[in-house]
Amino acid sequence: MSPAIDFLQHIVPILVAGPVVLGIFNANALVAVPAYIGPGAGFALGGSFLFALAGILLAFVAVLVWPIRVVIRSLRGRGRLKNAKVRRVVVLGLDGLDPLITRKMMDEGQLPNLIRLKDEGGFRPLGTTWPAMSPVGWSTFATGVDPSGHNIFDFLSRDKVTHLPVLSSTRLSEKPAKKIGPITLPGGGHRFELLKRSKPFWKTCAEAGVESSILRIPITFPPDKFGGKMLSAMCVPDLRGTQGTFSHYTEPGKKAETSRTTGGVRMDLEPDGQDRWTAKLLGPDKPDGTGSMEAVIMVSIDEQAKQATFTLAGQTFMLRPDEYSEWIPVGFGSGTQKAHGICKIRITGFEPGFSFYVSPLHIDPRRPAMPISNPPHYAMALSRLQGRFATLGLAEDTWALNERVIDEQAFLDQAYAIHEERKIQFFHALDRQPEGVVSVVFDATDRIQHMFFRYLDPAHPANEGKDTEIHKDAIFDLYRKADELVGETLDRVGKNDALLVVSDHGFKQFQRGVNLNSWFRENGYLFLKTDPEEGPLSVIPVGERSEVGDIDWPRTRAYTNGLAGYYVNVKGREKDGCVDPAQALALKKEINDKLRGLPDPAKDSEAITELWASEEIYHGPYRENGPDVIVGYKPGYRTDWDAAVGAVSGTVISDNTRSWSGDHCMDPRQVPGVLFTSLPFASTRPNLVDMAPSVLDLLGLAAPGHMTGRSIFREDEAEVAS
Ligand SMILES: [Zn+2]
Repeated sequence: MSPAIDFLQHIVPILVAGPVVLGIFNANALVAVPAYIGPGAGFALGGSFLFALAGILLAFVAVLVWPIRVVIRSLRGRGRLKNAKVRRVVVLGLDGLDPLITRKMMDEGQLPNLIRLKDEGGFRPLGTTWPAMSPVGWSTFATGVDPSGHNIFDFLSRDKVTHLPVLSSTRLSEKPAKKIGPITLPGGGHRFELLKRSKPFWKTCAEAGVESSILRIPITFPPDKFGGKMLSAMCVPDLRGTQGTFSHYTEPGKKAETSRTTGGVRMDLEPDGQDRWTAKLLGPDKPDGTGSMEAVIMVSIDEQAKQATFTLAGQTFMLRPDEYSEWIPVGFGSGTQKAHGICKIRITGFEPGFSFYVSPLHIDPRRPAMPISNPPHYAMALSRLQGRFATLGLAEDTWALNERVIDEQAFLDQAYAIHEERKIQFFHALDRQPEGVVSVVFDATDRIQHMFFRYLDPAHPANEGKDTEIHKDAIFDLYRKADELVGETLDRVGKNDALLVVSDHGFKQFQRGVNLNSWFRENGYLFLKTDPEEGPLSVIPVGERSEVGDIDWPRTRAYTNGLAGYYVNVKGREKDGCVDPAQALALKKEINDKLRGLPDPAKDSEAITELWASEEIYHGPYRENGPDVIVGYKPGYRTDWDAAVGAVSGTVISDNTRSWSGDHCMDPRQVPGVLFTSLPFASTRPNLVDMAPSVLDLLGLAAPGHMTGRSIFREDEAEVAS
C-alpha cells in the first residue's frame, strides 16, 4: 500500500485514519482511500437522524427567540451605526481572478460591469499571501493577519513524527472534558477541529451586533459558532471522509489505461442480463471497519437511442450522454446510523463500451450527517429553498478531468451548475439581509483556469493528445461570466452599500514541474534508505518515484511536501530530525543561495526567482508550523505532482502534461489578485491582509489589535509619513 498522499486531484491510495462512527473512533482501522488533497480527515457519522432532529428543534427555538434577538441586536447595533460609512458591505470573492487578464479584457471594452466598478470606485491589483494559494489567502482575508498569525500555510502541512503530508486545516481530535459549573462532563469520542487560528472579522461583527452571511469562504469547516450565518467551504469532506472521491464504471475489460495515480474508484460493471448492468457505489466505512457501506446502481442501456435508464436508492431516471442527472440522494446504513449523501451521474461513453461517472458523494445539505453551516439548520433551510446543492469543499471535480474520466465539457457543465447554485445562495442573502456583511466566494474562476489555462498557450506540454480548439475561449467566457455575476450583484446593491470584488491571487501557466526532493537528493541534503553512505546514488527510473516512507530521515536535512516551500529536518522538532536548531538558518541560506536562479537547461530559463526564509517574512505565533522556506517559482514553474506529496523522483524539472495546466503557487509577487470597489479607496498598495480591517472600517468598527492589515479607505501609513 502506498503511503503517498495525493494532492489536488492527483491521486494515489493513501493511509487515512477512519472511520468515525457515532463518535467511536477506530484508530486501528487504517484503510486505503483516495483523496483529493492529501488525507481526508476521516468521517464523523454522528447519527444523522439525531442531528436532523436537533436541527429542526434548533430552528424552532430560533423562531421563538427571534424577537428577543432583534431587540438585542438593535440595542447593540446602535453604537456602531454612528460611525458606519455604509449600512451593508458586500464582498464578492472571485477566487483566482487575474488582474492582467481582467485589465486586458477591460481595455478591449469587455467586462462592462467591472469597468463600471473601476470608474465609480476603484481597481488595483491586490497583494496576495506568501504563499499565494486559496486556503492561505482567504484565511488572511478573514483574519487580517499573515499565515504565521492564522496557521494555514498550504493545503497540506507535515506530520512532525511521520513526515507525511496531512491536511492543514482540519483534523480529527479527541473531545476534551467539558466543565459546566461544578460538574465536569467526561471527554472521549472524536470531533473535527478547525486548525485555523486568530479571529475572523465576522466574529468581531457578531460581537458588535452586526449581522453577517459568510458563504463558502475557504477554510471554514467545521463552521464557526458565532452570531451570524455561515455555509462551510474548502475542506468539507465527502461522505467517505475524503476531499472528494469520484466513481467511474466501465464494461469489463474496457477500463481506460490509467497512470500510476488514480483519483477515484474505478470499477467494472457487473452484467445483469442483455444490456443491463449493476454497479456498486461505495459509501462511508462500516462501523466495524470491515469495508465500505454500499448502494447499488442498476442501469439498462438503449444503444440505439443512445440513452440509459438508471435506478439508484429507489429513484429511476433516464440520461443521455452529455447531461448530468439531478442531485440523487442516497442513504447508507440504517436507523440512527444512517448517513445521507448526494451525487450526480453522467454517461461518459457508449463506444467502445458503456461507461459512466458518479460524482463524489457530497454531504446531503437537507440531512447533513455533520454540521456544514452555522446555525446547523441553515444548510437545511437553504436546501428547502433552492433544492439540494454541492456541499463538498472542493466541489468542482478537477481530479476527474485531470484523470480524463470526464471531458472538458463535462467539467464546465459541472462547474457552472455549482456556480448557479451559489448565486442563489448569495442573492438570497443579499435580498434578505439589508445590513451588516454579506461575503461569498465563487470558485469556478479558480477551478476553470486551473484546467483550461493550457488553451492560452499553444506550446503547453499539457496540450499533447488533447483538444486545443473547442474550448479555446473557455477562460474568456469565464471572465465574462464573472462580470455578469458582478452585474447581477450590482443590481442588488444600493447607495447604502459598499461592494468589494476580491480575488485571492491571479493565474499563470504551469508548464514545468520542479521536484525539490530530487534536487535535495542530488545535492546531498536528502537520502533514501537504499542510498549508500558514499559514492554514486542509484537512478530512479523515469515514471517511478520513492515515497516519504523510503526516505532515510536521520540523514536527511531538507525535504518538501505541499506547494508552498520546504522544511528543514530540525533536531527536537521533527522525529529523527538531524539539523541542530542553531544551524537551521545557516542551512537555509546555503540551500537558498544554490536554488536561487535554479537553471532549467531544457528551456534555457530559470525555474526559481527568489526564496524567503520564514524568519524574514513571518512574525506571528505559528511560524514554526509552516514551511521553513517559501519558494518563489518563476511563472511557468511550480512544485511537481510527486514533490507535492513528499515523493522523490529521478528528475528535478519535468513537463507538466496534466489538464491542470494553470496555477498560482509561484512567486507571490507575480500572481496578485484583484480588488474592485464601489467606493473610492486611498491605499495604493492594497493587500489581502487589509480586507478584514477595511470591512470593519466601513461598518464603523475598529480593527482588533491582532490584525496587521490597514483599512484601504484610509491613507497608507507610509504615504502619510512621506
Ligand atoms: Zn487554485
